[in-house]
Amino acid sequence: MKLSLVIPCYNEEKNVRPMYDAVNAVFGRTGFSYEMIFVNDGSRDGTWRELKDLEPVGNGSLKCINFSRNFGKEAAMYAGLTESSGEYVTIIDADLQQRPETALEMVEYLDAHPETDCVTAFQSDRNEGILLRFFKYCFYGIINAVSEVDFHQGASDFRTFRRNMADAILSLGEYCRFSKGIFSWVGFETYFMPYKAEERNAGRSSWSFRKLFKYAIEGIVAFTTKPLRIATGVGILMSLLSLLYLIIVVVQKLTVGIDVPGYATLIVLILLIGGIQMTTLGIVGEYIAKIYIQGKERPIYIMKEMVRLPAEPQRERDAAAEDADPLI
Ligand code: UDP
Ligand code: MG
Repeated sequence: MKLSLVIPCYNEEKNVRPMYDAVNAVFGRTGFSYEMIFVNDGSRDGTWRELKDLEPVGNGSLKCINFSRNFGKEAAMYAGLTESSGEYVTIIDADLQQRPETALEMVEYLDAHPETDCVTAFQSDRNEGILLRFFKYCFYGIINAVSEVDFHQGASDFRTFRRNMADAILSLGEYCRFSKGIFSWVGFETYFMPYKAEERNAGRSSWSFRKLFKYAIEGIVAFTTKPLRIATGVGILMSLLSLLYLIIVVVQKLTVGIDVPGYATLIVLILLIGGIQMTTLGIVGEYIAKIYIQGKERPIYIMKEMVRLPAEPQRERDAAAEDADPLI
């Protein structure tokens, strides 16, 4: 098998068939064998019904995985990777924002460049609001400053990589998955291919600002422990400043006597120190929560069912074997 396309789907009933047809139109012409792995991530609409109705065409085979509930895109990608068997693996969205033509270019790039292990699509120019753009800019600035791995701004999950990289990603069995970090962490030679995301074919994006913010915090917690060190640093700095102030107060008392200390100063200091303590506790809590979740060792996803349909030539061979053997 040359290529596995992993396609996570959440509420994509109007998109799965156009996506399926688009992939077949592009890869059907190539002549190499490929498989599409659709992962229905607990959709609330008719996505699973649509997926079950798909018929394999030409040299493409099909696997459809149904989750028991919505586990998130990260889990869906992991499930798709687990079931993939291709020499190359492409991760691509179901909403046709990412074109299968680009995926074919990625495959051709890997064919032509044996030293490259992964081709990642990145959007240099994004059609987004100024607030979101500013937020993303800050996120990449912070995460690159505090973590050891490199996060490429605008890099998407849309990428094609070799089997060795797929196996490396699968070997990271952590529960709280942050794929952008995982892709960088495993290393490998990556080529960044610019692309422009299309408009969604149908439906709405499942990302809200709140979800993105949560995702950003998850990413930072998953890939660096620097916030803990920063909390320690702030604690030490506050202690040193307090010590300095203590000395000043003692010297003042011994030399010029002391006025009644300012009420406002006192309140401000109490609130400031209280705030810093709560923030620090929160940071520590975030990490403890992750240890707690990981400690339970729950599976990343639960599969309810899987439908496999081999490619047409294989189906013909299976049918011929059935006809030849009357016992089957
Ligand atoms: N997706 C998923 N599970 C989720 C949310 C999204 O599998 O909980 C899939 C979705 O069906 C799509 C891809 O992840 O194929 C990207 O999602 P979306 O289009 O909402 O994100 P955007 O393109 O806006 O980043
Ligand atoms: Mg999308």
